[in-house]
Amino acid sequence: MSERLPLGVLGGTFDPVPVGHLRLAEEACELLGLARVRWIPAGQPRHRETPRVAPAHRLRMVELAIAGNPRFELDAAEAESGEASYTVPTLERLRIESGAAQPLVLILGADAYAGLPTWHRWREIFSLAHVAVTHRPGFPVDPAALPEALRREHLARIVAGDDAAALAAAPAGRILGLAMTPLAVSATQVRALLAAGRSARYLLPPAVIDYIDLHHLYRSRNGS
Ligand code: ATP
Repeated sequence: MSERLPLGVLGGTFDPVPVGHLRLAEEACELLGLARVRWIPAGQPRHRETPRVAPAHRLRMVELAIAGNPRFELDAAEAESGEASYTVPTLERLRIESGAAQPLVLILGADAYAGLPTWHRWREIFSLAHVAVTHRPGFPVDPAALPEALRREHLARIVAGDDAAALAAAPAGRILGLAMTPLAVSATQVRALLAAGRSARYLLPPAVIDYIDLHHLYRSRNGS
């Protein structure tokens, strides 16, 4: 029975892992009835600039951030591959791993969602997974503002925000707006604080702050 609860998929650079990421995963679990959330740090993401710190550090920071939450799990494949990271091949791998009937839910902030049409083979996402998109502060999910090709997919696939059952009822293909607690913190903001020698306390899990301090990460403009 629990095998058919949807599996959440949260990709990102996690450079580092602010509390917004954790609340996003936690609230997605609760509101969408997910069995688990698979955290997948990117190796070299293709649609954005190179992360400030190495994949091994970002992997370890995610591992520390999610420790103790039995519904969160780390997927090291992209970060360890040493190659460019693409979401569709990752979803194909998860589909093979979990079987044709397993609902998969790709979790995205509204900023990432609006950029979807720039992603490699992006239309195939909808045959592999559902998409849950959250209203990140500063980035409302306004269908009228989406790129035309995405707007068409959005309007054809959107289900009511409280209709989590729609995600469990099919393996892929639906889009749902996720109303999480608005948290405006971003990894960019945290990196800027650290580079300025300022505190990032309470914006990151304590274990991640300790790791950053131990390895002197983000302290200069050159990164690690
Ligand atoms: P950066 O500031 O370096 O661009 P980021 O904070 O957006 O990074 P990512 O690792 O790129 O972090 O984000 C992973 C996913 O989490 C993306 O889908 C992003 O939209 C989402 N996300 C990150 N922070 C928040 C937040 N505060 N609220 C909602 N979604 C978020």
